[in-house]
Amino acid sequence: MIIQLDQIKDHGMTCQYRLVPHDFPDATAWEESGGFKLHEPISIEVTLNRIAGLIEVKGRITTTIDSSCGRCLKDFTFDLDESFDLTFTNEPLTIHDDGVDVEEGVELSAEDLGLISFVGDSIDLTEAIGEQFFLALPVRPLCSVECRGLCPFCGIDLNEKKCDCAPPDFANKFSALKNIKIN
Ligand SMILES: [Zn+2]
Ligand SMILES: [Zn+2]
Repeated sequence: MIIQLDQIKDHGMTCQYRLVPHDFPDATAWEESGGFKLHEPISIEVTLNRIAGLIEVKGRITTTIDSSCGRCLKDFTFDLDESFDLTFTNEPLTIHDDGVDVEEGVELSAEDLGLISFVGDSIDLTEAIGEQFFLALPVRPLCSVECRGLCPFCGIDLNEKKCDCAPPDFANKFSALKNIKIN
């Protein structure tokens, strides 16, 4: 995903890619994320624009992923659809303080300003987009936000059946506290 800057015209430029997680430099992040399987390659669409000395990248990542629910453990499939904005710069950035006693400007790095720095006349989007993809993966995938999960006592799937296991009894816990004597 290397873009030559002179390819970016005044009206911007759009590129499309289809990748797998191992195309990204940090493929171990995919292995460690565990439990996810891709149904299809990851579709990436990016639009690049030059704005002053900056390269603005607007992108969208979509794919379909197989996973298992963090509550009921059932396998399910979900669509990942994530938009992102990135800004690249190759200019050194110096913010000047207009205060009378301040003589020196404060130098901020590109990273301090949320920008991604690059050198030369091309930018490589691979690492930054890989990061966006791994960030978009759910930490605890759920088959549905309403998933009731498994009963912690008998283990049945509470989406399908009810059980007679006792719910945690707060009233009893409080009555037990009443009997504690503090000297
Ligand atoms: Zn579930
Ligand atoms: Zn139960």
